[in-house]
Amino acid sequence: MKPINDSLNQLVNKKDFKARLEALRNSILSNPEVKTFLQEHRHELDEQMVDRGLMKMHEFIDQSKCCDKCPSLQSCVNMVKGYHPQLVVKGRNIDLQYERCPRKVQEDERKEQESFIQCMYVPKEILQATMSDIEIEQGRFEAIKLVRDFVREYEPNKKMKALYLHGSFGVGKTYFLGAIANALAEKKVKSTILYVPEFLRELKGSFQDQSFNEKIEYVKKVPVLMLDDLGAESVTSWMRDDVLGTILQFRMLENLPTFFSSNLNFKELQHHLTYTQRGEQEELKAARVMERIKSLAIPVEMNGENKRNR
Ligand code: ADP
Ligand code: MG
Repeated sequence: MKPINDSLNQLVNKKDFKARLEALRNSILSNPEVKTFLQEHRHELDEQMVDRGLMKMHEFIDQSKCCDKCPSLQSCVNMVKGYHPQLVVKGRNIDLQYERCPRKVQEDERKEQESFIQCMYVPKEILQATMSDIEIEQGRFEAIKLVRDFVREYEPNKKMKALYLHGSFGVGKTYFLGAIANALAEKKVKSTILYVPEFLRELKGSFQDQSFNEKIEYVKKVPVLMLDDLGAESVTSWMRDDVLGTILQFRMLENLPTFFSSNLNFKELQHHLTYTQRGEQEELKAARVMERIKSLAIPVEMNGENKRNR
């Protein structure tokens, strides 16, 4: 026979357990969200179903909802990161349905948005740029207006002039291109931002292999192209006539919008394109490329402080 004390203890513990269970039950059922759920579904539920569903409701209370317990998506505390529960009635049971939490929805949207933009030799940070971040300053008023018009009116195959953004170093030209790309991505339009000097360097290196043609073909055909920092490259007749000239010619004929950013205005760019590294002076060839640029884009000057020094 068990000593009497043991049996007594057991009884006490059992009682304790029962009391604790009752307390847990009360605390679960008095949770405001659970109460609302039970109230809304009172016609479908009976007491047994509520009792059977206690653990589900406990899990529901425990998990973060609408990101209320998580400082960020990375540190989401839920069982499945980025998913939060909702109480539902399934047949004769109370159950949980996990759905994407607000932060996860936002993150997925951001990723989808990013998938519309390709950065070639441009830092990915540029994808953080948005039109709403661009302060409306005197020096960029015209540029902002034209960009808004473009984004609003653009649709595939529509013949539209893009912009040639020029202005001194650090005024935010590249940032602007990023913001345009993002605004277009919201309309599910694909664009590519390409840093011209590096692109040309790479092309030169891949001259002999298959990737050369692939790169050119891609850049020729992307729905919206943004050539960043044109004029910062060193000029050779090959890059001017065979690469740039060919790409721009194709895009002009196919009505494919092409944005540019440059430290140089049209006149300065023409001068830059006239003189090759080898000392040749080729005014006619430079003029031909300039004609293509002018037919593709409206020049807009951007002024303002150098944002790199802020
Ligand atoms: P540019 O291409 O004209 O030389 P950038 O676009 O590279 O200039 O801008 C210079 C720096 O200022 C970058 O670090 C960029 O992220 C930042 N910047 C530019 N415009 C803005 C803006 N509107 N809001 C916040 N940061 C900006
Ligand atoms: Mg730049």
